Amino acid sequence: MPAPRIVVTRRIPEPALDLLRGSDADLWISEHDRPLETGELHQAVSGADAVVSLLHDRVDDAFLDAAGPQLRSVSNVAVGYDNIDVPAATARGVVVTNTPGVLTEATADIAMGLVLMATRRLGEGERLMRSGTPWSWHMFFMLGSGLQGKTIGIVGLGGIGRAVARRARSFGMRVAYTSRTPADPEVEAELEAERMTLDELLAQADIVSLHLPLSEETRHLIGAEALGRMKSDAYLINTARGPVVDEAALADALKRGEIAGAGLDVFENEPDVHPGLLELENVVLVPHLGSATKETRTAMAELAARNALAVAAGEPALTPVNPEVSPGSRP
Ligand code: NAP
Repeated sequence: MPAPRIVVTRRIPEPALDLLRGSDADLWISEHDRPLETGELHQAVSGADAVVSLLHDRVDDAFLDAAGPQLRSVSNVAVGYDNIDVPAATARGVVVTNTPGVLTEATADIAMGLVLMATRRLGEGERLMRSGTPWSWHMFFMLGSGLQGKTIGIVGLGGIGRAVARRARSFGMRVAYTSRTPADPEVEAELEAERMTLDELLAQADIVSLHLPLSEETRHLIGAEALGRMKSDAYLINTARGPVVDEAALADALKRGEIAGAGLDVFENEPDVHPGLLELENVVLVPHLGSATKETRTAMAELAARNALAVAAGEPALTPVNPEVSPGSRP
């Protein structure tokens, strides 16, 4: 059998490349440190048996056509896979894998960091210091909101949502959550978490933190109407995916003081940010840093590489998104 051709669409950490180099695969790694343009991507994946993809690579029918019928797997180096048309891949028997678990703690840290930055005005304070504006301590200087005794509303109590809830509990917060299916009773008990509808959560939470995937169902889930249901002293935190929030509506709500503030790691049209948000002091903006630690990025890339190698060897994928086309995989 000829060596499988594995295509890596952008440079990933060396330990993951070493795993791939240590196999018998015919390896192609993009030499550009940027996303491949569509034409380049389609050319690169032509004839591939496995593709290790990044979240900016659009994996759709055109990509699958360009790759060809021998393609066996697409291993996304991310837990989210909204860049991949999974039904289209499944229809062609292509295994899609993601990287759950290994980025949970790092992303939860960034969510909690945004909570602290937004509620305690840390970005605003830093900008003030760096601008050289005169300041002095006084009783009413840059007051923020405390967290103890407040409610965090977790939208999507999956891996990251649970990790954020644990952190919030250690800050003395109460946990409310919404998701389509109830969490395990042990998880609810551990977090003393109360399940409620999204509307109830929006009305009650002091912090609304988003941890659900982007899908047609969740696109613009948080728009003008949802923001209008939030308390005027509440904060919105988004470390999920940008399009879950209607950025124009958020900019409006923040400007009009309908909510107190927001912390965003992800944006609707990355790397662009809605200009209305850039003008505001009460929003914290960070450039999609959720999983950005050396350890986490290495673990994500290694998991993606292991998935690609497993499928190429005819073994079940480790973390398949569509286990129905990865024989022997556990759903
Ligand atoms: P996960 O374990 O699959 O959790 C997702 C949760 O969302 C599940 O509990 C799911 O529960 C819930 N959910 C799905 N659809 C929902 C809906 N319509 N309404 C309410 N809840 C819904 O995934 P995870 O590892 O926690 O990651 C969550 C998301 O974070 C990823 O999809 C990714 O987009 C994003 N992420 C971002 C970064 C970053 O760098 N900022 C890093 C990692 C992940 P039910 O199915 O029961 O509803």
